[in-house]
Amino acid sequence: MVKVIKSIENVDILVIGAGSAGCMAAIAAATYSDHRVLLVERYGFFGGTSTQMLDTFYGFFTPGEHPKKIVGGLPDTVVNELDRYGEIFLRPNTYGAGTGVNYHPERLKNVWDTLLLRAGVNVLLHTTLIDVNPQPDGRYECIFWNKSGFWSVMPQRVIDASGDADFCHLAGFAYETAGEKEPAQSMTTTFRMANVNLDQYEKAGGKKMLAQRMADTSMPLPRKEGSAHAMNIPKCISTVAVKVSGLNALNVNELTLAEIEGRKQAFLFESFFRKEVPGYADAKIIGLSHQIGVRETRRVYGEHRLTKEECMSAQIPDDSIFLCGAPIEDHREGKNGASETHWEYIPKSGIYGVPYGTIVPKGSQTVWVVGRCFSATHDAHASCRSMAQTMSMGTAAGLAAVLSLTDDSAANELEVRLLRSKLYRIGSVLEVPEKTAQTGKKDWKSTINSHVFH
Ligand SMILES: Cc1cc2nc3c(=O)[nH]c(=O)nc-3n(C[C@H](O)[C@H](O)[C@H](O)COP(=O)(O)OP(=O)(O)OC[C@H]3O[C@@H](n4cnc5c(N)ncnc54)[C@H](O)[C@@H]3O)c2cc1C
Repeated sequence: MVKVIKSIENVDILVIGAGSAGCMAAIAAATYSDHRVLLVERYGFFGGTSTQMLDTFYGFFTPGEHPKKIVGGLPDTVVNELDRYGEIFLRPNTYGAGTGVNYHPERLKNVWDTLLLRAGVNVLLHTTLIDVNPQPDGRYECIFWNKSGFWSVMPQRVIDASGDADFCHLAGFAYETAGEKEPAQSMTTTFRMANVNLDQYEKAGGKKMLAQRMADTSMPLPRKEGSAHAMNIPKCISTVAVKVSGLNALNVNELTLAEIEGRKQAFLFESFFRKEVPGYADAKIIGLSHQIGVRETRRVYGEHRLTKEECMSAQIPDDSIFLCGAPIEDHREGKNGASETHWEYIPKSGIYGVPYGTIVPKGSQTVWVVGRCFSATHDAHASCRSMAQTMSMGTAAGLAAVLSLTDDSAANELEVRLLRSKLYRIGSVLEVPEKTAQTGKKDWKSTINSHVFH
């Protein structure tokens, strides 16, 4: 039978993948232009990792005694909208990844719906990119599949926010695969537990006590330094504890094994918590992440490739489009298969700038790549992948796509000065703020230091 491919006409900017990076890119492009923006997502909800497995935005604040708020503008509007419903609190964490913004993940699904529709983004859920045909005029025909059949879209500009760089892979852009040079970061199925007696847990010593119980247990836990933290829902906790390593998330046989292993480990942790951790005797798992969490797969080679040396130099180059202060947090296999997380903090100001070229695939005229598949080495990526940063990349790519249509300029020849001034005008933070953020108050509003909101 001949396959019928129907087409979706007049798409100016196509965003593939609706994680934190893709949603933000689509919102930025639709908010600040009249162009027709289409966002496609293979699952039935928006947010990707932000909604399907996590509940804390890191990267808004630098870690340490004197935290600075280094992300603002559009990413702030996501938190503001959650805050409107009283569904956030600041999660104190002086070191580690710094102060986190904890949110209700199911409410965030609803907030992404609201913000995307309010911005005028055209959205298609349950729609997967399956092929790309490069055209002689520099555009790309994108083929999607969903329950209604096969669809073709020929956009003027494309933003690949698929996490795995599916578009760039199919379009023939070069990339490095996780594990090719350095060991790939491990994968994690997150799980949530209800009916936890948090008072009893805190009285018994809280986090310190948990670490000791994990170290002392005779149960074969795959990871001893996993975290369990209170959620925005009474008596519920969320974890980042499971650790599945040595499997390739781009190989579907291995990914299948990883999903099964992740679930097995989650229930092993449940028994450990119930038997050995005060406050958990009556607790049970109420949810596993929608899929196993994948930290890295393809990292596209861009016009600029962020390196560890650049992160550690704590410099802010003139072509920076956002800031990052997160340490390198590399979840890797330790000796004899033991788990280990390698931390390395950014020295001096503790903040570096990320150049525009990291979101432009090498040689690209009409394509940007954002989120966890942006252009960085393994180490640099391990620092620059928190969601405040992926949202910042999305914001910059959305505005860059608009600018490139307005000025008829190629992605790799865009005037970064103009992009930066647009970013600045909408409240993005591009310079080290003077003030220390008031994270001690646990109140989001008191921390906002962005200069303007147009
Ligand atoms: C276990 C784990 C714990 C983490 N903890 C934190 C934390 O606590 N705080 C923090 O800030 N960061 C954390 N991170 C990092 C951060 O969550 C990610 O780097 C970030 O969410 C990546 O966002 P993204 O938009 O690039 O990708 P994703 O969120 O993965 O979004 C990609 C989207 O594209 C869709 N998609 C993929 N392929 C296709 C296709 N072919 N067609 C259509 N759609 C497609 C996917 O379904 C998905 O919705 C963690 C990551 C992991 C894995």
